[in-house]
Amino acid sequence: MTIVRVGLGTRSYDVVIEAGLLARAAEHLKPLARGRVMAIVTDENVRPHLDVLRGALSDAGVESEAIVLPPGESTKSWAMLEHLTDRLLDLGIERGDHVVALGGGVIGDLVGFACSILKRGCGFVQVPTTLLAQVDSSVGGKTAINTRAGKNLIGAFHQPALVLIDPVVLETLPLRQVRAGYAEVVKYGLIDDADFFAWCEANGAALLAGDLALREHAIAYSVAAKARIVAEDERETRGRRALLNLGHTFGHALEAEAGFSDRLLHGEAVAAGMALAYGFSAAKGLAPQADAARVAAHLRSVGLPDGLAAASIVASGEVLVAHMLHDKKMDAGTLPFLLARGIGQSFVDTSVDLDAVAAFLNLDPR
Ligand code: NAD
Repeated sequence: MTIVRVGLGTRSYDVVIEAGLLARAAEHLKPLARGRVMAIVTDENVRPHLDVLRGALSDAGVESEAIVLPPGESTKSWAMLEHLTDRLLDLGIERGDHVVALGGGVIGDLVGFACSILKRGCGFVQVPTTLLAQVDSSVGGKTAINTRAGKNLIGAFHQPALVLIDPVVLETLPLRQVRAGYAEVVKYGLIDDADFFAWCEANGAALLAGDLALREHAIAYSVAAKARIVAEDERETRGRRALLNLGHTFGHALEAEAGFSDRLLHGEAVAAGMALAYGFSAAKGLAPQADAARVAAHLRSVGLPDGLAAASIVASGEVLVAHMLHDKKMDAGTLPFLLARGIGQSFVDTSVDLDAVAAFLNLDPR
């Protein structure tokens, strides 16, 4: 078992990571249930794990109510937020209660946001069931829904009281989804830890093939890295948390071009975006070309896209840059880019010339 503490003063919490944890979750949840009914929110694809969790709670004498929502990004909507908050109010959820979010980033983001506004804020616990949610979205307290104007535009910072991560639940997750989450694992190496990137090169294929010990190690490592960054800059005001956006500005443009659809999953867009960020850094003479090639080679070797062609994006550089201008990270007319001086040496550059970005993208093979 690994326990990572997210140090945020009075809002600090533990992230517990252990194979088989779901079946033992009652040990951690019972004190938070306070002898009351515990609400568990999940989606239809996560039902097998819901049964395990409810069984464990029931064995420990904790009553639970399940709210099962439709799967998919469209669940992060005003309509579902209304439906969910009404259901939680019907259940009589109080401020001191803890709602359990059992699912991927969609469930985590929606439940977290609902709990940030329910009775002006109630507690919640993240039990992430996708690799992406386990290494990224369940930790750090960013919550949101999507609107007509774009993704994640309405939300709040609301930290969970506890995060329980069981890598065994990934056994039912489709490989494509595991791979997309793995892109975020690689990201932690590329941000500031060349040794961890080398670990990914050595172990990524076996991890994706299902090696449980490697998965647990990668999750614990990634959570510790995210916890450190979040503790330094909870609300992304001092720049440090922005490092977590490596690959996201390029990736956002690709996702937008793909219509934020299953054609290109978020993690796949981040993978291509990281390869492009390194490629652009090398083209500007900031990073060695060999490092950019190494990043692309690793992503390619595990079946992740390493550029526009592999992501099936045919749009021009100018069209992709236009998508970037709708990025919510735009700040008074400038768009911060995550660039790199080498593997594990990323930094924020707020003076990137967008014409140069478009020209670079036009050279990337389609
Ligand atoms: P998701 O929640 O849609 O899950 C992907 C798919 O896997 C869904 O169909 C889901 O039903 C299914 N699923 C989940 N767990 C399963 C399991 N164990 N077995 C079988 N199927 C399972 O997507 P995601 O990739 O987990 O998260 C993407 C979302 O996370 C996006 O909305 C994104 O904006 C958000 N996100 C948030 C943050 C943050 O900091 N809050 C960070 C990154 C991404």
